[in-house]
Order: sequence, then structure tokens, then C-alpha cells
Amino acid sequence: MRYYVLDRGDPLSVELSQTFHKLAAEQGLELDAKSPDIVVSIGGDGTMLHAFHTFIDQISSIAFVGIHTGHLGFYADWKADEIPELVQMMSGHSDPGLLRPRIVRYPLIELELQKKSGASSHICLNEFTLKGVDGTVVAQVDINDQMFEMFRGDGICVSTPSGSTAYNKSLGGAMIHPTIEALQITEIASINNRVFRTLGSPLVLPKHHHCDIYSRKEQNLLLTIDHVNLPMNDMVSVRCQVSDRKISFVRYRPFPFWNRVRNAFLD
Ligand code: NAP
Ligand code: MN
Repeated sequence: MRYYVLDRGDPLSVELSQTFHKLAAEQGLELDAKSPDIVVSIGGDGTMLHAFHTFIDQISSIAFVGIHTGHLGFYADWKADEIPELVQMMSGHSDPGLLRPRIVRYPLIELELQKKSGASSHICLNEFTLKGVDGTVVAQVDINDQMFEMFRGDGICVSTPSGSTAYNKSLGGAMIHPTIEALQITEIASINNRVFRTLGSPLVLPKHHHCDIYSRKEQNLLLTIDHVNLPMNDMVSVRCQVSDRKISFVRYRPFPFWNRVRNAFLD
């Protein structure tokens, strides 16, 4: 079993990652930064976003585990004091008292960015947002190659089911269970008048549907993919859809999504 640990960099996370390495060495786990089987993120949900993007090229062969050092997270759902159990589970010791790990797989969004200066592909775990830098965004939104609406406002957010509890939630989007392969489009402060008319409600697209967002004026835009900001002044369009790739997480005890939602927002 090859593993890698990525921590948030604060003193507690650094200390926990040292503890992890010590225990892992005792159990004969092999530290491998190049092609790990399991990537452990220690910190918060934001740390998992980092881990995901660090290993984006290998996500089909990696399972992620998140340990939280503050509040319980959506991706970081292991407690610090469970590290010994986690290491033991990863080393495959057949302790009958230990539950067998389960792998859960969550949908991702892929996007194709077209700029006058070239094209690129990206994947998001939470969401991507498109925002104006100098003013409002003017963009045409097409769904499955048909014009849907002309948007003007602060921006547009397109989120995954597991990202629905993040930025999407602040925008009034719905919480989507990650077994549902879908993407959700939410508006960020749209202007509605005779020229610009938008639906005003979040939209959920199933797999195999796609959405194109075309820049409709000369504008400086900020494309944010999870935590990564990509400023641009020559965007032509972004096409997005549910990806064929998924992210895998290791679970060794059930922790239903709705319990995490209640835990984070209601308890
Ligand atoms: P950040 O500004 O430190 O994160 C914002 C908050 O979002 C943190 O509390 C983070 O948890 C939490 N979070 C991240 N993923 C989540 C998820 N899937 N479900 C519920 N909460 C989640 O920046 P960051 O840590 O780099 O995270 C980037 C994310 O921040 C973006 O993907 C976006 O979703 C979110 N964001 C939200 C708003 C908003 O709600 N107005 C604005 C910008 C960005 P941790 O503290 O555990 O890291
Ligand atoms: Mn954060």
C-alpha cells in the first residue's frame, strides 16, 4: 500500500501528519509522492480540494481520505484521534473488530475553456464560477446547443453534487445527493430587465447534457475552479458537463451525506 499525506500547513495539521507518517512506517506502509494508492488530506475541506488538484492526473487509481483538524467537514470526515485506526485499516490488518473499508465515488464536472489564446480542459470537485472583474458579466447560456438565456449579473456558479453544500448553498442552490450524477447552475446576482432575462432559479442538468457559456462582450473575467483563480481577458466560451471520471473516497464506517448536512448546518 503506497500512500501520501497532504496537510494544510498549520501547526496541528503538520503535527498530525508527522504522527501519521510514524504510525504508517510502523505498519510498513510505503510513502510515495508519485503514485500513491491512498492520498490522506489533513486539515479541512479546502485541503481536500488541494489534494484532489495535486493528483488530478491519477484520480482513477487513487482513493482519498480526509482528516479534519477543526470542524467536521464534508470531505474531511475522519477525526484526528482515529488516525491509528485509519493507518491499521490502510495496512490491511485483518482485525475482526475493524470494519472493512468501502469506496464511495462522487461525480465531478469537466469543462472545456476556449480563449482566443487557446483551449484547455479542467475538472472540478466543488464548482467553477465565472465572474466579472471590472463589472457585471454578460454571457449567453446555451443548454444542449440551444440558446437558453442571456445572463447579466455578478456571475454564474456550476457545482457538483458534493460541491452543492459549498458556494452553491450560499447562492440558494439545492443540496444534491452525490449518488445523483448531475450538475447545478446557480446565478450570482443576475440583473433582470427587458434585455437580460434569466430563469432566476437554480437548474440541475443530468449526465450527458451540456451547457455552454459564451462571453458576449469584451470583458475581464475571473474563472475560479474550486480554489484556483484564472483571470482572463480573452475568454470565448466554457463548455461544462458531468465528467466520466469520479473521485473515490475511502469510508470505513457509514457517514450518510444527509447526516453531514445536518451536522454542518443544523446541529
Ligand atoms: P475558503 O474560503 O477557505 O472556503 C470557504 C468555506 O467552504 C470553508 O469553510 C470550507 O471548509 C468550505 N467548503 C469547501 N468545500 C466544501 C464543501 N464541499 N461543502 C461544504 N463546505 C465546503 O476556501 P477553500 O477552503 O479554498 O475552499 C474553496 C471553496 O470555497 C470553493 O470551492 C467554494 O465552494 C467555497 N466558496 C464559498 C463562497 C461562498 O459561500 N460565498 C465563496 C467563495 C468560495 P474548510 O474550512 O473545511 O476548508
Ligand atoms: Mn479553507
